[in-house]
Amino acid sequence: MSFEEIYVAGRWRRGAGALRESINPADGSVVAVHGTAGIADVEEAVEAGRRAAADPAWRDMMPHLRARLLHRIGDAIEADADGIAALQTADTGKTLAETRGLALSAAGTFRYMAAALETMDDVLTTPRGPNLTLSVHEPIGVVGAITPWNSPIASDAQKLAPALAAGNAVLLKPAEWTSLVSLRLARIVEGAGLPPGLLSVLPGDGAVVGDAIVRHRQIGKIAFTGGTVTGRRIAAAAAQKLMPISLELGGKSPTIVMADADIDRAIAGILYGVFSSTGQSCIAGTRLFVHRSIFDSFVAQLVARTQALRVGPGTDPATQVAPLVAFAHRDSVAGHVERAVAAGAEILTGGGRPVGEGYAGGAYYAPTILTGVTNDAAICQQEVFGPVLVALPFDDVDSLVETANDSVYGLACGIWTRDFPAAYALARRIEAGTVWINTYKQFSISTPFGGMKESGLGREKGRDGIRQYMNQKSIYVGMDPAPLRWA
Ligand code: NAD
Repeated sequence: MSFEEIYVAGRWRRGAGALRESINPADGSVVAVHGTAGIADVEEAVEAGRRAAADPAWRDMMPHLRARLLHRIGDAIEADADGIAALQTADTGKTLAETRGLALSAAGTFRYMAAALETMDDVLTTPRGPNLTLSVHEPIGVVGAITPWNSPIASDAQKLAPALAAGNAVLLKPAEWTSLVSLRLARIVEGAGLPPGLLSVLPGDGAVVGDAIVRHRQIGKIAFTGGTVTGRRIAAAAAQKLMPISLELGGKSPTIVMADADIDRAIAGILYGVFSSTGQSCIAGTRLFVHRSIFDSFVAQLVARTQALRVGPGTDPATQVAPLVAFAHRDSVAGHVERAVAAGAEILTGGGRPVGEGYAGGAYYAPTILTGVTNDAAICQQEVFGPVLVALPFDDVDSLVETANDSVYGLACGIWTRDFPAAYALARRIEAGTVWINTYKQFSISTPFGGMKESGLGREKGRDGIRQYMNQKSIYVGMDPAPLRWA
């Protein structure tokens, strides 16, 4: 498959931006050369989107028929899951097990949104006069979806499926490092029969292509997943247009181990929660709080299990920790750890590139556990977005809550204990959009997801996910045949 052409306004053609190489972080090889968009492509895509979204054939399509299209897209993604997985593993370094899981999750997202669409109701509201009063929902028109590099096809689907279900046209701007899989998704969606113009996939620089999408006066909503700095910039631009946005941003999530925790379950959950996806996960549990009475023994076991994790290429079925997405990102992760050590952190394991045959040519970084700092240290406050865990002891629940919440972020939290009422009470005190009790990093498309504080604004997923891409309208129908009395 060639990636030199991008998908603009229902046509495959070269974009106005320069061609770019996509690099395999496992060995530095070029995966493919792909096209990028320019401002003129954004203009054309918006115009085509506006026309396609206003076409009664799409705008007034019966929900059960639009749902059929979404099912076809889901089926086509599933049928191509192995191909998508291989491409995404080459492009991002991730393990094949993970990328296949992401493809299947994208298929599931389209199917869930199809089912939700078929069962959504508008309402007849209770009148206060001789009127028929209705509250109905309508598509926004043309919306922008801007996605990050860490779970490309899944985050694309999380925006595309509800936005199309709601009856919109979508401009999708994938991340600079991972545009290939979004272009492949466009081929799948086109093949499944989405009318031309309803989807454009516009790779390119965020500050140019992404910014042009956000500022375009015909774009009625932005759904963004990415870093908090970019999210704040998008929110500022959206404020000028008073445009609705949803922001899924960064995190620095606490994982809490109470003294009575099931140690085996906790260790497995913590390892998965922070080191799967090589830590490149917004919800990674990166701040570990362990009750002081078990801190030393728990952390010793965790270190031993971390050292047994298999680091290797994403194509090796045995690999648990694959390379990071890019060499520059590996250097950024290393920089965070070096600064933490300079500020007094102690390395319990990892803390550098793994040594050995096969690692030299890839963007590898060893799973790392640090300790010896307090929660106000930069390594506890800044998102590293790599396989780096900081272990901190705690003494009592009140001080734990204060420290766990002492973060600009509020995305997720893990709690490990056998005392369910205590876990529930603690979960309600933690400032996080998602709390996992005796598990971690589990997702369901039917369960809303989003962050508190600087981790985001709005929620994705769930039945209401489709409503996020719609305008609500009230309609009053006068039922009294007499003229209004005032006049
Ligand atoms: P990023 O903010 O650098 O980029 C995200 C997207 O925004 C990219 O497509 C980029 O090109 C685009 N962009 C950049 N500047 C822009 C601008 N001025 N206007 C419009 N678009 C612009 O983030 P990233 O490095 O790709 O992804 C990592 C970040 O994403 C992490 O902070 C991570 O926590 C976050 N993330 C959050 C979630 C969540 O659901 N909360 C999920 C995954 C990743």
